[in-house]
Amino acid sequence: MSRVTDPTNEGIAAGTIAYAIGDALYLNLTNACTLACGFCPKTHDEWRVKGHDLDLVRGPSFAEVIAAIGDPAPYHEVVFCGLGEPTLRFAMLKRVAGWLKERGVRVRLNTDGLANLVHGRDVLPELAGLIDVVSVSLNAQDEALYDEHCRPGRPGAYDACKAFIRDASRYIPVVVATALDGLPGVDIEACQRIAESELGARFRRRVYGKVG
Ligand code: SF4
Repeated sequence: MSRVTDPTNEGIAAGTIAYAIGDALYLNLTNACTLACGFCPKTHDEWRVKGHDLDLVRGPSFAEVIAAIGDPAPYHEVVFCGLGEPTLRFAMLKRVAGWLKERGVRVRLNTDGLANLVHGRDVLPELAGLIDVVSVSLNAQDEALYDEHCRPGRPGAYDACKAFIRDASRYIPVVVATALDGLPGVDIEACQRIAESELGARFRRRVYGKVG
């Protein structure tokens, strides 16, 4: 993947940090990822999502994120999403989520579910009261397929993701596991069974190639 980064660290366009899709506002805290998913647009150097250019020259500061949000009141929810893994900026994620909760905003986190693996501790208790809904990319019904599509840099990622989904409900009111229907080899019914029966989460089928 080729990518040009701005060495001058100039200001970031507000639309790159916060972008609206429907009645939700999405926040882009980082372009960094633990995974290198073959199906991800950025893996193919495509940084536009629904017309929004999400290519960050650097991680935005708290003040830049708050300025990009503006007034969150008109939105049904604010979603930490990407194009990158929000929990890699965990302190920033918590600070912005706290600011949103003080204003009565519903907050969703879209994540790879690998924060505990990456940070080497159970971070879920720290999200209590800050995140209302967590949507975790389960992506596959077994480790081999997960590794093939998501290409984790660390061993044990699939099991860590499943454990994160299972344990999240202790601290976060709504836990949703997702998988992409149409991605080669993915058995959506099997993913749903794992999410609901094994992990006690809800399940949402997403359609491969369709964003949002
Ligand atoms: S975790 Fe998400 S943003 Fe990161 S590579 Fe995979 S699909 Fe792309």
